[in-house]
Amino acid sequence: MGPPGAGKGTQAKAVAGHFEVPAISTGDIFRANVSGGTPLGVEAQKYMDRGEYVPDEITNNMVRGRIAEPDAEKGFLLDGYPRTLSQVTELDAMIDATGHRLDAVLVLTVDQEALLGRLLKRAETEGRADDTEDVIRRRLEVYTAETEPLIAVYAERGLVVSVDGMGEIDEVQQRIFDALDDIPQS
Ligand code: AMP
Repeated sequence: MGPPGAGKGTQAKAVAGHFEVPAISTGDIFRANVSGGTPLGVEAQKYMDRGEYVPDEITNNMVRGRIAEPDAEKGFLLDGYPRTLSQVTELDAMIDATGHRLDAVLVLTVDQEALLGRLLKRAETEGRADDTEDVIRRRLEVYTAETEPLIAVYAERGLVVSVDGMGEIDEVQQRIFDALDDIPQS
């Protein structure tokens, strides 16, 4: 978890490789559907273009389907999910049903001031449709209102591992590996 621009996507791929599990990124799945012009993509794009969250029901159903695939049988890393309280509850149910358990909730902490700059830079390099300044501001607001409070929910369960997300990609990656290697895996 962490705000837009914290480096979740980049680090998720590295962590998933390290633990040999798939990285399941809801943002990537939505973007692939948008590019492919699927009905899910058409629906999701309405929200993504405005910096709003795709409705929980759509998102939850998509994740339920994805974690039921064979490559996720031995575990998985979720990137960008859950983002709302309803998604937390649904994820608990999905995990119970599949016999998994949550090992850790990794939180990347970043200097709020650095985020806008990072995201505007990404807009230049990656050309994401939702990386315009107005949409970025909305995404940061939505994160603060809807998702940041979930950290406390997981902290109560003793699952939160906080890592400083500032610095070079490799440095942050090493901090994450050091922090996660201490955690018992299910
Ligand atoms: P991301 O790549 O994780 O920043 O996600 C890009 C966009 O996809 C978000 O701004 C949302 O519109 C949508 N999205 C991704 N994950 C979720 C989620 N868990 N719940 C709702 N919308 C999501």
